[in-house]
Amino acid sequence: MDTFQLDIDCVIEIVKRRGARCVGLQFPEGLKRRAGDVAEAIEKNTGAAVLISGNPCFGACDVDMQLAQMVDIMFHFGHSSMGDQGNVVFIEARSDADPVPAVEKALEFLDSHRIGIITTVQHAHKLDDVRDFLEKRGKVCVTGRGSSRVKYPGQVIGCSFDAARIDCDELLYIGSGLFHPIGAALATGKRVVAADPLTMHVEVVRTDKVIKKRSAVIAKAMDAKSIGIIASTKSGQKRMALARELKLLAEKHNREAAIIVMDLVTPEQLLNFKFDAFVNTACPRIAIDDAGRFHAPMLSPKELEIVLGEREWDITFDEITDTEN
Ligand code: SF4
Repeated sequence: MDTFQLDIDCVIEIVKRRGARCVGLQFPEGLKRRAGDVAEAIEKNTGAAVLISGNPCFGACDVDMQLAQMVDIMFHFGHSSMGDQGNVVFIEARSDADPVPAVEKALEFLDSHRIGIITTVQHAHKLDDVRDFLEKRGKVCVTGRGSSRVKYPGQVIGCSFDAARIDCDELLYIGSGLFHPIGAALATGKRVVAADPLTMHVEVVRTDKVIKKRSAVIAKAMDAKSIGIIASTKSGQKRMALARELKLLAEKHNREAAIIVMDLVTPEQLLNFKFDAFVNTACPRIAIDDAGRFHAPMLSPKELEIVLGEREWDITFDEITDTEN
């Protein structure tokens, strides 16, 4: 059974070194169950008071800045840093799982010689093991640098696939879930093999179902006369300039358009707004993961351009570039 390691000794050492008297903790959903134990360890070993963020958290883009202002230091767990955020310290979660058995299984799925390796922060520290294993079997392995939203070579996140845009024949994704490898396949047009070190599941990623779903959303939005443009207040998702550009673009094409500023974007939060379609400039995963749950089509910025006839039909996931925040 895999566990994700959090370096609590390091947290305690930082609290002591900085002489913090009040400490904030923020955990993503999958690690919230460990909050009580971490808080207890800090209080017992440092004497500092601890406040835990109860707000939802899905990425390093989503720092609880209100809590950060109430404490001397805040630890954000589970994600790698997206740059300097004042008194916020990022404590990554690292997986214990050995990726090599899953990569060994993936060998029979790999068609070519030059393999680009991509992963998430939880497995980034094991990429050398993957590379050694594959190179001993005659493969050439390459890893990309990635954007400023990621920290490690080969690391991808759901809104940035730069590390996958490399000179290779096909990509091997090490990690769980299919969102990242599908995003990488759409971003690069390359064949992607996904290998999950936790479940040992290996598959060649297919993009046809996602393309079909996105095509249906675009088709449904073609007649929209009014567009609600979602702009996020989250620290790493703010794209107000893009939201304003999209509003002007929609108006140029005789659509009514308004910008809706919000923190957590959910189908329930939008239910009372009567727009014919929405465009999401917040986390790109929202439009994909919750596609069927919104009461009106939820487009990505590029998909709005397709609807308005400003862009050729070409479906890729939205990405947040490092210049927009
Ligand atoms: S914007 Fe979305 S995909 Fe990007 S880091 Fe945040 S939660 Fe992840």
